Amino acid sequence: MKDVDVNGSDSTMKPNYEDAVEIVHQLRQAGYTAYLVGGSVRDYILGRLPDDYDIVTSAEPKDVRNIFPKTLSVGERFGVMLVVKNGIPYEVASFRKEEDYLDGRRPARVFYCTAEEDVKRRDFTINGLLMDPDTKEIIDYVDGRVDIERRIVRAIGDPFARFAEDHLRMLRAVRLAANLDFEMDPALMAAIRGNAAAITKISAERIRDELSAILTHGKARKGMELLDESGLLAELIPEIKALQGVTQPPVFHPEGDVWEHTLRMLALLPHLGGKANLRLAWGVLLHDVGKAPTRSEDERGVHFYGHVEQGVKISREILERFRFSVDDEKTVLALVKEHMIFMNVKKMRPERLKRFLRMADFDLHLELHRLDCLASHGMLDYYEFCREKLAEYSNEDLRPALLIRGRDLIEMGLQPGPLFKEILSAVEDAQLAGRISNVVQAREYVHSVLDGKNKTRPLKNGA
Ligand code: ATP
Ligand code: MG
Repeated sequence: MKDVDVNGSDSTMKPNYEDAVEIVHQLRQAGYTAYLVGGSVRDYILGRLPDDYDIVTSAEPKDVRNIFPKTLSVGERFGVMLVVKNGIPYEVASFRKEEDYLDGRRPARVFYCTAEEDVKRRDFTINGLLMDPDTKEIIDYVDGRVDIERRIVRAIGDPFARFAEDHLRMLRAVRLAANLDFEMDPALMAAIRGNAAAITKISAERIRDELSAILTHGKARKGMELLDESGLLAELIPEIKALQGVTQPPVFHPEGDVWEHTLRMLALLPHLGGKANLRLAWGVLLHDVGKAPTRSEDERGVHFYGHVEQGVKISREILERFRFSVDDEKTVLALVKEHMIFMNVKKMRPERLKRFLRMADFDLHLELHRLDCLASHGMLDYYEFCREKLAEYSNEDLRPALLIRGRDLIEMGLQPGPLFKEILSAVEDAQLAGRISNVVQAREYVHSVLDGKNKTRPLKNGA
């Protein structure tokens, strides 16, 4: 149970080990068996800081509710309660086995059982370990420890059957192998290949969250390669698979085809606080997606006419397919749309450049551009130029207080209408360019625009 961190930064309200252990103690004091299980035990052995702590117990949900003052019963029917400590929810699951997977995702019924039976229905051996937090003893019914040591993701039981009962596990396997930098057991990989087409039965949101974790929680390149090898990429994002073999001019792209270029950028994603920024990561994945359908070749070479427009269109389809939030979609589409504009920064007039530099999320745009360069020709001239200009311009230079607003135009006797935006934008351009700097000049400028005295400098809508 966890959310993907949108900003790639650590939130302050994180689950913590002490509170998780306290929950284990309280369960034991009430006479039940209780352990830490799953990811936190795996991460403990690996020396990694877990994202969350899951607890298993012989107590049934109704018992859990009696022991703790604050519980939430999100998955009670499936034997899972949330215990809230210091405002943070911890998953407390009753030892249970599941039967009759009907929809490839959720079991129809659960039965309470022993700890051993409980871990045997878990997904991967590395996730099937129990730990006594007091003695640090690890209880291993699934040979998970040796797989952690050998860094292998292996299914508990027959992988084919396990993926057929819950298709999401296929994506979880790729996510774990990528994020932990583990190898996939060959039988597990073969089983994913055999079941890959079923992944589309999983809800768009769950797929999105797993893909996002693959892209942002470490080793995104490896994650994409495993998605590809396993057949999941072709099922989930065929538009990205289509970038394979889309060759590019070697002068600009000595690294190879668009797929290789995209993978190299993913490998370079910065991981602040252990995670990459979600929107940047998706922007990187999608930035050149329009190149597959637009590639053409003539005697002058290879072209991708309109790849940005196509890229925005295809990206929108992908982001909507995975039900991204409106804000995520907007930012990612802007990253795709603007990524080629960096080539023009040195030629821009000051007002155009300032508008570009003050664009929302410019830090993400600039970072995507930096990765774009590093994953191809390696020249950072435009990146450096933007950094210099950002250092040179003050906030006041980039976002000066407006000299004129709509109500001033009304006072000047103008009728509100579409022309307003054009005039205001032209006045702001003149201000950004340093041609005017006070209200009197601004009013004169409005008149000059209206009188058509400014014919040499056509009105332009601002960005
Ligand atoms: P992390 O929290 O680091 O992403 P995790 O292994 O803790 O990894 P969770 O989603 O928190 O993953 O799940 C907790 C545990 O529940 C897993 O370690 C695994 O034992 C079990 N589990 C989760 N999802 C499944 C599934 N789809 N099928 C079987 N077992 C699962
Ligand atoms: Mg977990």
